[in-house]
Amino acid sequence: FKPANTNLGVKRSLSRVKHILLVSSCKGGVGKSTVSTNLAIALRNLGLSVGLLDADIFGPSIPKLMNLHGEPRISQQGKLIPLQNYGVQTMSMGYLIPNEDSPIVWRGLMLQKALQQLLFDVEWNDLDVLVIDLPPGTGDVQITIGQMLKVSGAIIVSTSQDLALIDVKKGISMFEKVKIPIYGLVENMSVFVCPNCHHEEHLFGKDGVLKEAERLGIDYLGSIPLNREICSKSDEGFPIALSGKDGLGRYYYEIAEGVT
Ligand code: ADP
Repeated sequence: FKPANTNLGVKRSLSRVKHILLVSSCKGGVGKSTVSTNLAIALRNLGLSVGLLDADIFGPSIPKLMNLHGEPRISQQGKLIPLQNYGVQTMSMGYLIPNEDSPIVWRGLMLQKALQQLLFDVEWNDLDVLVIDLPPGTGDVQITIGQMLKVSGAIIVSTSQDLALIDVKKGISMFEKVKIPIYGLVENMSVFVCPNCHHEEHLFGKDGVLKEAERLGIDYLGSIPLNREICSKSDEGFPIALSGKDGLGRYYYEIAEGVT
């Protein structure tokens, strides 16, 4: 018998990237992309060289969050050159489709091809860390990335709502299967503080993520309140973490400090 192809199943590093950090969520709409973006900016402001890769091929949101658009240039080596804003290098499927409104209708092979390109054909400029914003859930993209890349660790974003927590365990076993260490859980939209009377309302339940982290024996990396300014700054393409460590952005800096 010929020797089997030992390259199969061997995880790859990315050239000129020291660490890869995955940001995942088990449900959509819990704030994963907002966390990825603000975390990338916080890490950058803590002095690291940071990249942000939008692996949400069918619903890319990084271009809007980072206020970036336009087609990436191609390097002499035929690689995609990242678009940069706020000191963070980024790449997203959103830059490669004609305009925001065009639906991405590819499936199957095209998806794999697009993903391969985003993962392996980008010319990152010496990154300490590449933050990858995964699509929600535990589908093909997440498993492919987990199997192909040498990852330093993953964080899982959730709200405390039972419905969001139900799948956290599924997400964790997926990462265990592909041997990716988990930094911990991040609770988003933990509390709403009324700007008028300062009453605190735990819209999605109290301490659900914390208890789930304890039950599963993983770290609780911190919580982010539900706040109108976090939302409006995202919509403006000026993520809240840009306002520094003292304001509402501090929650993201705490998470950044927890993983470095
Ligand atoms: P996901 O990536 O999980 O689908 P997004 O990051 O796109 O979620 O967030 C979903 C919506 O919630 C967006 O409109 C975003 O601006 C808003 N959002 C996220 N986190 C917060 C927060 N802490 N406070 C207020 N709005 C938030």
